[in-house]
Amino acid sequence: MMMGAPAACIVGWPVEHSRSPLIHNYWLEHYGLAGAYRREAVPPEKFADFLQNLAASGYAGANVTLPHKEAALALSQPDDRARAVGAANTLWFEAGALRSTNTDVEGFLDNLDASAPHWDRGLRNAVVLGAGGAARAVIYGLEQRGVTRIAAVNRTPGRAADLHGRFGERVRAARWDECASLLGDAGLLVNATTLGMEGQPQLALDLGRLPAHAMVVDLVYAPLQTPLLLAAQARGLRAVDGLGMLLHQAVGGFALWFGQKPAVTADLRALVEADLGSSAGETAGIS
Ligand code: NAP
Repeated sequence: MMMGAPAACIVGWPVEHSRSPLIHNYWLEHYGLAGAYRREAVPPEKFADFLQNLAASGYAGANVTLPHKEAALALSQPDDRARAVGAANTLWFEAGALRSTNTDVEGFLDNLDASAPHWDRGLRNAVVLGAGGAARAVIYGLEQRGVTRIAAVNRTPGRAADLHGRFGERVRAARWDECASLLGDAGLLVNATTLGMEGQPQLALDLGRLPAHAMVVDLVYAPLQTPLLLAAQARGLRAVDGLGMLLHQAVGGFALWFGQKPAVTADLRALVEADLGSSAGETAGIS
């Protein structure tokens, strides 16, 4: 049973490169709250047992990262958001039950609201690269904001086709070789693949067809300035990096476990940016 100051953790395999402890421990100190946030390296075959013993281990809840997000969904009572996305990244206890949500959705939306106000005004067409958990969170968020046509472009076509089944007629699966024509009337391009991440292949995409008012968002944050963002900036397009989403997705869990809604500030961003810079060249960070 939980006693004393609340504690939470990030559960992953591997988990050592996660920036979540840096973010949550910054907020604990900043707000003068008693509590702790730790890393827990848990292999897939031990994940169910770990969750079973979460409260007995003294945890008020947890963040979940790769490869456990689908298992976390299955082993908890998810809210509508986590169920729709098909992945859970935040767990907490409510009336004795283990609940889950997906804060990547609000991380994506809140970051854009903060860094590019009115970004969704008049936005009709978006192109999302990827079909994994991050892409599903982005698509769910875009649907919530009324985007009417979302093209999901993925290396494995079947996974993009699944998105149409999951999210309905606003989402259609597209191939990489359709990208150039899709970009012609897109107001938003989001990279939700691992392409461009340190240690991964580059994302080769010609942004020439994007309209001048289009915005480009890269969910990759290691490196912070990806070639995609540099190409967008070179064309004078609005470009948003992945760090803001990482910071904003952490807000919900902190509020649930520690009872205080924290602010995403320039100081926090500078702290994590410095940490990303100091470890550049190592394995890329995960949330
Ligand atoms: P995931 O479920 O493993 O999905 C990975 C995606 O990348 C899939 O669509 C996969 O395509 C595609 N991909 C991988 N290698 C590729 C290649 N060589 N060529 C073309 N496509 C390739 O991962 P995820 O959790 O969705 O995360 C995706 C990215 O978002 C990662 O870079 C992650 O760090 C980032 N992310 C950022 C935040 C944030 O807060 N900024 C939050 C969540 C995730 P296939 O389906 O064909 O394999």
